[in-house]
Amino acid sequence: MIYNLGSINADFFYRMPRLPGPGETLAATAMSSGLGGKGANQSVAVARAGARVRHIGSVGSDGRWLVDQLAAAGADVAGIRISDLPTAHAIVMIDSAGENQIVIYPGANHDQCPEQIKAAFAEASPGDWLLLQNETSHQLEAAEMANGIGMCVAYSAAPFDADAVARLLPHLSLLIMNEVEAGQLTKALGKPVLHLPVANVLITKGAKGADWHDTRLLQTVSIPAFSVDPVDTTGAGDTFAGYAVAGLSQGMSPQGALRRAAAAAAISVTRPGTADAIPTLVEVEAFLA
Ligand code: ADP
Repeated sequence: MIYNLGSINADFFYRMPRLPGPGETLAATAMSSGLGGKGANQSVAVARAGARVRHIGSVGSDGRWLVDQLAAAGADVAGIRISDLPTAHAIVMIDSAGENQIVIYPGANHDQCPEQIKAAFAEASPGDWLLLQNETSHQLEAAEMANGIGMCVAYSAAPFDADAVARLLPHLSLLIMNEVEAGQLTKALGKPVLHLPVANVLITKGAKGADWHDTRLLQTVSIPAFSVDPVDTTGAGDTFAGYAVAGLSQGMSPQGALRRAAAAAAISVTRPGTADAIPTLVEVEAFLA
């Protein structure tokens, strides 16, 4: 079982002829909305990979439709609480050239509580996984509880915050970053990746693939990306992280889990959208066949 303490956002997309300037009002030519947030996207990826996932998070009373969408994707939603704060949302304006401007309101995403996390872990056992990102509150408390149960903890360190990574590092089995975040971290800590005090570090490198670092064996394994024509790369990292942790929790080797994650992420970049673009395991297996 994977427990994912993660954000849940309502994403609102507005197509605009161009992006508005300061003080300007512009009408959108089209709009759509859907489930988003790094946490929710990773839960969808874990569920589509065929692993069991319990999402721990918060929405306002205006966000029940997002909980329904997570449940429809196959996630256990028993760890989600209804907060007094409004649901987190992102307003994404996209111009005719594909350039965007985004405002995020974190709202209920910063309103978890230790009792909620403890209750969600009631049936957790050694060998289960806790997955974390940086868009909720109480990651450290959750990691400490998970360590106490003997769970493995994976942390997708985005949006990047060097202090948060430093605090969480001693509690992690796996740190997941993209190349930019890895560069920021090695600069902030003044240490190469293989010298970080965490057993495994996964660095994704877009179309260049991903590197799996084993700091105990001082070894790096590179997993190539699949060659595809990208349409929309938003959410590739979340698809990869969710599929990778799902594979590891299912007992796959790092190489096997990451090859499958690379295939899932490659399919996702050929489709528009984020959560909607994440393929099912059947689609990934057909791609790899
Ligand atoms: P993030 O979205 O967090 O910045 P990356 O851009 O590193 O993450 O992408 C995550 C993974 O998705 C990569 O390791 C790769 O396997 C896959 N991926 C991303 N972009 C492409 C692409 N253009 N072609 C094929 N695979 C891609």
